[in-house]
Amino acid sequence: MWIDSHCHLDASEFSGKSLALADEAARMGVSAIVIPAVHRSNFSVVAELARQRADCFFALGIHPMYVATSHEDDLQFLRAEIARLLNDPDLGQALVAVGEIGLDYFVPALCESPLKEKQEFFYSEQLKIARDFDLPALLHVRKSQDKILKYLRRIPVRGGIAHAFNGSTQQARHFIDLGFKLGFGGAMTFTRALQIRRLASDLPLSSIVLETDAPDIAPRWCHPGVNTPGELVQIGYELASLRGLDQLETARQTTVNVLAALPRMQAGFVLR
Ligand SMILES: [Zn+2]
Repeated sequence: MWIDSHCHLDASEFSGKSLALADEAARMGVSAIVIPAVHRSNFSVVAELARQRADCFFALGIHPMYVATSHEDDLQFLRAEIARLLNDPDLGQALVAVGEIGLDYFVPALCESPLKEKQEFFYSEQLKIARDFDLPALLHVRKSQDKILKYLRRIPVRGGIAHAFNGSTQQARHFIDLGFKLGFGGAMTFTRALQIRRLASDLPLSSIVLETDAPDIAPRWCHPGVNTPGELVQIGYELASLRGLDQLETARQTTVNVLAALPRMQAGFVLR
């Protein structure tokens, strides 16, 4: 029993196949999938997937790579949608976080003014939304660890997940101290990814969650193919072997960690 804590199941690569891929993942042992939104235009799509499947959960937010095509009033829309959906009797428990939000300083075009400042504005305003609704945050952190941490200290939220974590041990510790779990996925499966593999094997297991980030970050064995949520199990085996742990114990502990990071999932998720 595993949880894919970060999967873009609504991505265009999966067009028409999202539900079939969720079925396939469930058959392989993935008992829940968390689907973050990226832009106002897909808020209703990710919510609809969660409405159709009891094992799908969702988050609403504006991804840093979609800030360029977003407007300030999308933040008011985000706030209003969260307020509305948290009170929806069918969907309230499936809305588990604000995300995917963060800062991307890897893509050069996103680091130039005025987009750089716009990214920071959207990130900090969305942290305030997470804080105001007492929701965790799903963070996209690319070459931006210290800036992300600086805002988290200024606008404290109730933890969450720093997804596809790729920072130093010290930065990892800062996230953990602020109540965050660290997401590991396909990148960890490459033997040359020394730093990520070191973190995945040395950090306390209690701070690690697993993710596919499908359709992105394909693991070694599907590279350069399209990643799917069913790969989560094999990614979990990789973590188990890196740490010299039993597979079942790895599944159990990483599942407990996701439920701790995203406590609203607990109501909709029965530990079997
Ligand atoms: Zn993502």
